[in-house]
Amino acid sequence: MSSTAPRRPPIVAIDGPAGAGKSTVAKRLAEALGFVLVDTGALYRAVALAALRAGVARQDAEAVSTLARSLVERRAIAFERDATRGLRVRLDGEDVTDAIRAPDVGMGASTVSAYKGVRDALLDLQRQAGHQGGVVLEGRDIGTVVFPDADVKFFLTARIEVRAQRRFDELTAAGSKTTLDETLADLKRRDEQDTSRAIAPLRQAPDAVLVDSSDLAADDAVARMAAEVRSKAAERAQ
Ligand code: C5P
Repeated sequence: MSSTAPRRPPIVAIDGPAGAGKSTVAKRLAEALGFVLVDTGALYRAVALAALRAGVARQDAEAVSTLARSLVERRAIAFERDATRGLRVRLDGEDVTDAIRAPDVGMGASTVSAYKGVRDALLDLQRQAGHQGGVVLEGRDIGTVVFPDADVKFFLTARIEVRAQRRFDELTAAGSKTTLDETLADLKRRDEQDTSRAIAPLRQAPDAVLVDSSDLAADDAVARMAAEVRSKAAERAQ
């Protein structure tokens, strides 16, 4: 269909399980396309960290949901683009980019992200961040819930052993004393929580392109995905 109305640039959704290489691939894809990156997992992690710090039990759905709503209303969670260090996350003004990567915050994020109140609170924030297009959003439910009409959707996955090894290497490099077995058990628990929750469970959107990164270098995955986005953008322009 041809139209004289100016088209906004594409919205690109990348969903998939923990440890599939989403963060690396989403970052490089955004760079390759000159798009803005939105790491939606960081929002759930920031809520989990805020709960931890405020002494709010992560099992208390109502209290965590109230906290999430208050954080959003106060605009306490913010992304900041740093020219040298990339995307930074602030919580009440403090740079928590590294703090939210701790494994217990990841588990906490997985728990609190199952609450409807938390998901609702963060939904608008994600839509505001992406609606103008020229954006790569990475998460679990971008292509199914946040932007079901995203122009290009990817489901990035890998075998669980590969994902565990990657996550273990990352954590070890960051100074963590965890073991590969622990990392694997942690991933299995998170997969189980993320896929079995009642609201916005992790699943591949029917129109998402499946990318299995098990035997694929990150740059090869990025090249394949960038080509897909460009081809879709060319189709839309016709
Ligand atoms: O991607 P990341 O590991 O940072 O996400 C942390 C947790 O946040 C995930 O385990 C998942 O439960 C949750 N999440 C979500 N929906 C998103 C992004 C993350 O439920 N869009």
